[in-house]
Amino acid sequence: MPRVPALRNRLKDTPVVGAKRVLLAAPRGYCAGVDRAVIAVEKALERFGAPVYVRKQIVHNIHVVSTLEKKGAIFVDEVGEVPEGSHIVFSAHGVSPAVVQGAADRQLEAIDATCPLVTKVHREAVRFSKQDFEILLIGHHGHEEVEGTMGHAPERTTLVNSPADVPNIVVNNPDHVVWLSQTTLSVDETMETVRLLRERFPNLQDPPSDDICYATTNRQVAIKKVAAEAELVIVVGSANSSNTVRLVDVALEYGAKAAYRVDYASEIQQEWLDGVATVGVTSGASVPEVLVQEVLDDLADAGYGDVSQVVTAEEDLMFSLPKELRKDAEGNADERGLGGRVRQLDWQKDR
Ligand code: SF4
Repeated sequence: MPRVPALRNRLKDTPVVGAKRVLLAAPRGYCAGVDRAVIAVEKALERFGAPVYVRKQIVHNIHVVSTLEKKGAIFVDEVGEVPEGSHIVFSAHGVSPAVVQGAADRQLEAIDATCPLVTKVHREAVRFSKQDFEILLIGHHGHEEVEGTMGHAPERTTLVNSPADVPNIVVNNPDHVVWLSQTTLSVDETMETVRLLRERFPNLQDPPSDDICYATTNRQVAIKKVAAEAELVIVVGSANSSNTVRLVDVALEYGAKAAYRVDYASEIQQEWLDGVATVGVTSGASVPEVLVQEVLDDLADAGYGDVSQVVTAEEDLMFSLPKELRKDAEGNADERGLGGRVRQLDWQKDR
């Protein structure tokens, strides 16, 4: 991702009590599912040429989307907007079977960049539905991932938007219910919702493994540690990014006196820094690191040049690219076929 032209020396270095410093949360930024989805659009453009259509934002970040638009991606809301026979990429948030069918009906060449961890939840929904469970899906109304998951078992799924919804849920058989969740929720709030659901439905079944993904969980754990020591937390990410917005909530809950979300460093306000010695910084799972670097540059201008990482986990997960992109036009395996942008697994390095 290219850098954004920075407005340097915009923030002033004003005196505070104590030494100024930045605590930089790790892990932060791109997760494996986002990396894969962005590479999928780039590779589709390379391979098939512009335009390549993308249903919804490929990932919820305005900088990523505008950068891909400049390269020739066209973002649409629905497959009906795409000329017949074109290439279309489904976003990391996943789609319902009805969307897949809609693309097939228009003879679109579909490339499915759904994160494999979202696909896992889709499979769970299908399996529990076949076993006649009623599914209580904890997630946010209107979020694309929720729409895609509900679309896999529309007759049997009830959305639980928040703990406040629990008293009003109606099911046919209270002894045959299971909960699933959106992948990018607050871990703590979701566990509270599950606790309330279990009070109402004591035989509530758990999903076979956590639906909130490793990246969401890891970023929340890291910001909890940072927030305990920071007067101000800056979270880089877009307003429609669920996991980003949760990081702001978690920071406030775990001790930050103030927490703000910014898309770009230029949105940082001078008054946020008044009297602040320690600034925490993190970023959502769809945020390229260049945007964090720009925040650090601006903070350095304001005297916060002392940056320490607070590392709570190491991440090395990688996913295969969508199957439609694993080979080049001549049928040769693509060297990036195992995921990361520049990363290689150790065992691959000598091959
Ligand atoms: S946040 Fe989690 S579920 Fe979403 S794309 Fe990243 S790894 Fe996949």
